[in-house]
Amino acid sequence: MSEEDFSRVCSKIDEEKEFLNSVSQKIWNNPELAYKEEQAHETLTSALSRCGFKVQKQYLLPTAFKAEYTSKTGGGPVVAVLLEYDALPNIGHACGHNLIAEAGLAASLGVKAAMEADPKVAGKLVVLGTPAEEGGGGKIDLLNMGAFNEIDVAMMVHPSKFTSTFPPVLSRLSINVDFKGREAHAAAFPWEGRNALDAAVAAYQNIGLLRQQVKPTCRIHAIITKGGVSPNVIPAESRLELYARAETQSDLTELTDCITKCVESGATAARCTASIEYKHKYHYLNLVSNKIMGTTYDYYAQKLGVIPTDFPLGSVVPTGSTDMGNVSHAIPSIHPFFDIGTEAINHTKEFTEASGDPKSQGPTLKVAKALAMTALKLMRCPDTLQKVKKQFEADIGQGL
Ligand SMILES: [Zn+2]
Ligand SMILES: [Zn+2]
Repeated sequence: MSEEDFSRVCSKIDEEKEFLNSVSQKIWNNPELAYKEEQAHETLTSALSRCGFKVQKQYLLPTAFKAEYTSKTGGGPVVAVLLEYDALPNIGHACGHNLIAEAGLAASLGVKAAMEADPKVAGKLVVLGTPAEEGGGGKIDLLNMGAFNEIDVAMMVHPSKFTSTFPPVLSRLSINVDFKGREAHAAAFPWEGRNALDAAVAAYQNIGLLRQQVKPTCRIHAIITKGGVSPNVIPAESRLELYARAETQSDLTELTDCITKCVESGATAARCTASIEYKHKYHYLNLVSNKIMGTTYDYYAQKLGVIPTDFPLGSVVPTGSTDMGNVSHAIPSIHPFFDIGTEAINHTKEFTEASGDPKSQGPTLKVAKALAMTALKLMRCPDTLQKVKKQFEADIGQGL
């Protein structure tokens, strides 16, 4: 049966390739920022309606949507394909989310075609439009509002300069620190002052020293966004903003504790106070890629000629953070990266070009086919679905 699914998925996606490219181009040509993706929302919901999905526009959030297709026989799992479509300020689709939307739409068309062709495929396909990955975390909002409660598994793909089904995607916590000191005339009475900029600089340097003692997978990036108003006034206020990232939740907890000590000691040394805000509301969790789902995806991706990037032992695998991490802690998920044939890295103007280039189309449609086959495998094989769920429980139970 899987051979028939495979040929149905491939021919449907190939048939629709011009339409899929036009959707992707429309989104790419009109980059919209987090929570303001009105036109992308319109483009994608119209495309899904046209293709016979039951569509709910503005699902829980103004630029989120939910489209569904249910098999005629009923029963089976609820499989979600996730689409992103937000861009970055000034540099457009520098993370290639237009291709995420295209691949998700393509995969959904493929799955639906296979479900229509064979009534024995039991399940519900949910196409979920998830805004604001680059700023805010739309998937966190959707999780909190219960959008994933009825969903068994979730999947998406992300464009990159490399290919990896199990990329290390870090947990990220945003931390803001406001230091308070006391103003004084910087020449006449400097001893009367408490220099809040000194506190921020000391904290910044402590963090710099900390780096040698953290795991290679940890990341800390800090900036000083406030440091005084005039050189002849001892600064009474300063602000440090930083992201802490780590591969697991327990690593992040330990790292956050170390950073807190760096900040507090900087404040103590400068006889200032530090008020620390941990922005847990927008805490992106690390990605837990489901091994069973990933292996299924990998099988089809490689069959289609998508070759995983070979990272030499000891090399640093490039990584970031995503709100898909939060989804992966709630239900079994995958979020493979795929190479779109560029040397550029995400979040650069060069990557924007690559995401709109015809060269990206081949890889995007291949991974869409692999995604569709993964969804169909879960609908056809209750055993595999059980294994997926067991793996998920084991991963989360281990505190990954
Ligand atoms: Zn990005
Ligand atoms: Zn991205």
